[in-house]
Amino acid sequence: MLVIGLKGVFLYDDLVLESLRRVYGDDVDRFLEAISLPGKRLYVRVNTLKVSADELIDRLRARGLKAFPDEELPEAVYFPVEGPNEVEELELRVYVDKYAAESVYIGSNLYAPGVVDCDARIKRGDEVSIVGPGGFVVANGIAEMSCYEMKRRGRGLAVSVFRSVFRAPPLRDLPEFREGLFYPQSLPAMYVARVLDPKPGDVVVDMCAAPGGKTSHIVELSKGRAKVIAFDHSRSRLKQMRENLRRLGLERFVEVKRADSRYISVDYPMLKADKILVDPPCSALGVRPKLYDVKSYRDVVSAAAYQRQFLSEATRIAKPGAVIVYSVCTVTIEECEEVVLDVVKRASRKAVLDFIEVQRFSRGVGLEEVVRVHPHIHDHTGFFIARVRIVE
Ligand code: SAM
Repeated sequence: MLVIGLKGVFLYDDLVLESLRRVYGDDVDRFLEAISLPGKRLYVRVNTLKVSADELIDRLRARGLKAFPDEELPEAVYFPVEGPNEVEELELRVYVDKYAAESVYIGSNLYAPGVVDCDARIKRGDEVSIVGPGGFVVANGIAEMSCYEMKRRGRGLAVSVFRSVFRAPPLRDLPEFREGLFYPQSLPAMYVARVLDPKPGDVVVDMCAAPGGKTSHIVELSKGRAKVIAFDHSRSRLKQMRENLRRLGLERFVEVKRADSRYISVDYPMLKADKILVDPPCSALGVRPKLYDVKSYRDVVSAAAYQRQFLSEATRIAKPGAVIVYSVCTVTIEECEEVVLDVVKRASRKAVLDFIEVQRFSRGVGLEEVVRVHPHIHDHTGFFIARVRIVE
């Protein structure tokens, strides 16, 4: 086990580090430093079925926010992330989970579900420090609830943040978010549906769809005129997905189904798709900012075996000529190049890797057709995107 103290604390076993070295060589430390920090830009995807990027930017600017259009993707808008700022540790502390810590770290307010523990003396109006796993102070703010309420209520605003290590607008508190005018999404994730390129009339299957970030993008790109079927096996994540689709006003364009999509060719024998998205669970090593992470090589190997199952199943529900896009927010060769090469080689259908025309990121490790995003080079989430074409 190795503990690396940059901004984050990473408990990665030697084989995980070895796996990262296969990709980054001597740059592993630069990679680890990059994933412990947020990017310089925080992106949202404009819901183009409700508003244009220019209109959204005007509304956000009228609210005093710095919002800018992306240089390449018309539906991408970003906010500069300011910092790092010094945050002094106060006497009264609220301890939060990893998920809450990582969003408060970049300026979000703290909501009660993220609270793990707090100083029993805290009452409404007190100035408090918010502390993440690993003991890192991510922000200071004003308690909107007593400690007792934070623990008992399970919902609602717990602390209004006034100073965080990094600062970007608290996206989920904006009226434009509640009106469904945008979806918070990393820029590399936006390229996934772009690479899938759904067209009106296509039958599109999203095999690992919740909470619906890429599904909703697919609906927007096809202007609501593709038949989109979204599968996921998690009840709680499907609930989140339905809420997201409702907020975006896109519910009626998606058939949402709960299923173990590794077996959809058996459970849905008539299902045949033109476009299939496989965005399965992964070791998430590319996700940033990370204050704390624990991973063993066993996590990487079992994720890769699981990912192969979804991708192989996708080849079984594909129409001749269909396109399958495989994406993961991680960087190990085991979960990226090796998964797609292996599935393409073993598929019972004739399948080929299709060259992806995206210039702003890098090519794969020893594989020109696919796209990789490197956090320390591109300043975005670490990502992998491949496109497989079923020839016959
Ligand atoms: N595509 C989503 C988006 O853009 O918002 C994110 C998908 S997330 C990386 C992976 C999803 O796979 C999770 O929602 C998880 O519940 C789902 N999943 C995991 N195992 C599954 C299975 N056997 N069948 C269907 N879905 C599964």
